Amino acid sequence: MSSKKASFAISIDLELAWGCWDKTNSEIIRKIITQERPICKKLLQIFDENELPVTWAVVTALLDSNGIMNGKEDQKAWYAPDIVENILKSKVKHLIASHSYGHKEFNSSSREEITEDFEKSRFIFKKNNINTNVFVFPRNQVNHLDILKQFDFKSYRSVDISWYKKVYNYNKYLGKISNIIDKTFPLKTNTIMPSIDSFGLIEIPTSILLIGKNGIRSFVSNFSMFKKIKDGIDLSISKNECFHIWFHPSNFYYQSESQFKLLNKIIDYVNLKREQGAIETKLLDQFS
Ligand SMILES: [Zn+2]
Repeated sequence: MSSKKASFAISIDLELAWGCWDKTNSEIIRKIITQERPICKKLLQIFDENELPVTWAVVTALLDSNGIMNGKEDQKAWYAPDIVENILKSKVKHLIASHSYGHKEFNSSSREEITEDFEKSRFIFKKNNINTNVFVFPRNQVNHLDILKQFDFKSYRSVDISWYKKVYNYNKYLGKISNIIDKTFPLKTNTIMPSIDSFGLIEIPTSILLIGKNGIRSFVSNFSMFKKIKDGIDLSISKNECFHIWFHPSNFYYQSESQFKLLNKIIDYVNLKREQGAIETKLLDQFS
């Protein structure tokens, strides 16, 4: 695939309760059990209808038939081979990436802990005949890159490109609320370009998180979100770069219909640009 052309990518972190293993409660677990599967089903249906392949970053423990949470009452929140099976048998050929075995904190885990996590993950993927060389860091904590290299990964997703810029012009007087909105919702639209890091790995930043509609985040309207993303897609075309959206299925737990409407609107716009030959879709293993 040509890297000269503008591209559009979606990556989704599939983690269920592993994403919040250290701060889970019965309400969260209930939401995961009742909503994650129907949302994934609907997402897969939308991707099939639009012939849009995406990258699914999977927490490998979800596939572990001997996992520590198996056999417990809430097993469905921790073990989900059914969802991965649905991804793999989709009409559209999606990419499975690794989102680690147990969604550990990479910034505070030791080399030994991280190595063990990678070993477990490799074992489970192998058992399920899944081969991947793309990694998505839990909580976007980009760390232990030498171990990533050691385990033969070729590329990884890093952080929102706007965060890099924020380091330089961070406003310490921002209030708490505007800070959260600002962090999850960059004021400027950003396109991305992958780069090669010092380990020879391909680093793929993201453009924007499709934020959920719970709490203060619900103040961000579909109108402004769509406008930002549309501007980003247009910018990627004029700069021959990539526009990369990421989210979790849980970002669809609140106001689901409205979120799906937004996603469909975004995909309609991408389709229009694809028909014009202006943009192509990319999986995270298609960057070089
Ligand atoms: Zn995650």
